[in-house]
Amino acid sequence: MTTNLPVTTGHQLGRRSWAEPWKIKMVEPLRVTSPDQREHALAEAGYNTFLLRSDDVYIDLLTDSGTSAMSDRQWAGLLLGDESYAGSRNFYQLEEAVRSAYGYQHVVPTHQGRGAEHLISQVAIRPGQYVPGNMYFTTTRAHQELAGGVFEDVIIDEAHDPESEHPFKGNVDIARLERLIAREGAKNIAYVSLAGTVNMAGGQPVSMECVRAVRALCDRHGIRVFLDATRMVENAFFIQEREPGYAGKTIAEILREFCSYTDGAWMSAKKDSLVNIGGWLALNDRDLFEEARNLVVVYEGLHTYGGLAGRDMQAMAIGIAESLQEDHVRARIGQVRYLGDLLARAGVPFVRPVGGHAVFLDARRFYPHLSQDVFPAQTLAAELYLDSGVRSMERGVVSAGRDPATGEHHYPRLELTRLTIPRRVYTQAHMDIVAESVQAVYEQRESAKGLVMTYEPRYLRFFQARFDRL
Ligand SMILES: *Cc1c(COP(=O)(O)O)cnc(C)c1O
Repeated sequence: MTTNLPVTTGHQLGRRSWAEPWKIKMVEPLRVTSPDQREHALAEAGYNTFLLRSDDVYIDLLTDSGTSAMSDRQWAGLLLGDESYAGSRNFYQLEEAVRSAYGYQHVVPTHQGRGAEHLISQVAIRPGQYVPGNMYFTTTRAHQELAGGVFEDVIIDEAHDPESEHPFKGNVDIARLERLIAREGAKNIAYVSLAGTVNMAGGQPVSMECVRAVRALCDRHGIRVFLDATRMVENAFFIQEREPGYAGKTIAEILREFCSYTDGAWMSAKKDSLVNIGGWLALNDRDLFEEARNLVVVYEGLHTYGGLAGRDMQAMAIGIAESLQEDHVRARIGQVRYLGDLLARAGVPFVRPVGGHAVFLDARRFYPHLSQDVFPAQTLAAELYLDSGVRSMERGVVSAGRDPATGEHHYPRLELTRLTIPRRVYTQAHMDIVAESVQAVYEQRESAKGLVMTYEPRYLRFFQARFDRL
């Protein structure tokens, strides 16, 4: 009986391994550096892994954004780029791909996700309105605040607890959202900003039951729901795996159903959609779409290219279709879990359950002797780089920034260092190296002293801040 099963479904039965549903036909050499070189490079970078040169990095787990390997079909698609200023054929292919995969009516292309976040924030937020969301995302909240919105976190409490094994830690706390609506009035809510596989919570999914409840509540109050669809495909995988009634549905079906409960979405195609650059905003409301389509011309480019080359839109259209293949998603998340299993065996503290795109080390428990004022997650990213040249990123107090009203640091409960796995790029052997390095840093954890911030940019400070050793 088991011999008829495709190997890639084996892991669901707990008996067989998954494997990548591709083979490699082009390679890019990696550079291994010496401890002295890393010491020098990190000091030059102000102890901020964002400021390292990639030539000084061995295994790059900074982000899964724009770092995917494209398929041969996507590369072939680049040659089909129609670089006409207006009416590019590739735009219509992209529009069709978004409509059929995500189900929205109208599509505005943007150069990447934050271009779409800018547009939706400008057209859908009036200054002073609240924007409730299931935890913040850095660029999303920045654009909402620049448009005069006031972000309010309505995620469930379990999301802030790295040890909670809740299967859908990205869920909205419906009672909390209801209280906000009662407190401020529906007219003072711009929209609900719902994100799939919540990045800052550790790549944690939202259930179908939750999005249905959000929809029902918002319908009663005439409030719109917009989705950050950046990692919604990965979210669909978790629904298929964990939510009763969805085991027999395809990822594509689950994605369509989830999106059908929302009024539109913004997308960083640099994640799920397997391209190096690109994004879009999709809306069902014709009037809102007209406004966004008008604004895109001001900030991104004409509404049939939105800051992208025709070839980029072609690669994105193909990437959308590839991202929905079941064996792709299973292998992608399988690799993230593989790393999580190695770290669990080594006793390293990280956010449970392992999320879709990354393992998030719990810097609070890793360095219990360091307070958030000396940036434990930033320190951990620095130590990991020094040990092996593996690049990770901070998702803690530095990323959280300051409260625009009081000027104080936001002190998030989650102080995390993210090991983000690019799609289709690294092998299992690379994951072994990463796990060994994290373990080595963990063994020396008591000697870590923390960092002091010496330069702080005004916006999205984690990208460009500089630090020194304490
Ligand atoms: C990356 C990301 C964005 C922003 O997209 P960019 O393409 O980086 O501009 C928005 N939301 C989430 C959840 C993301 O991960």
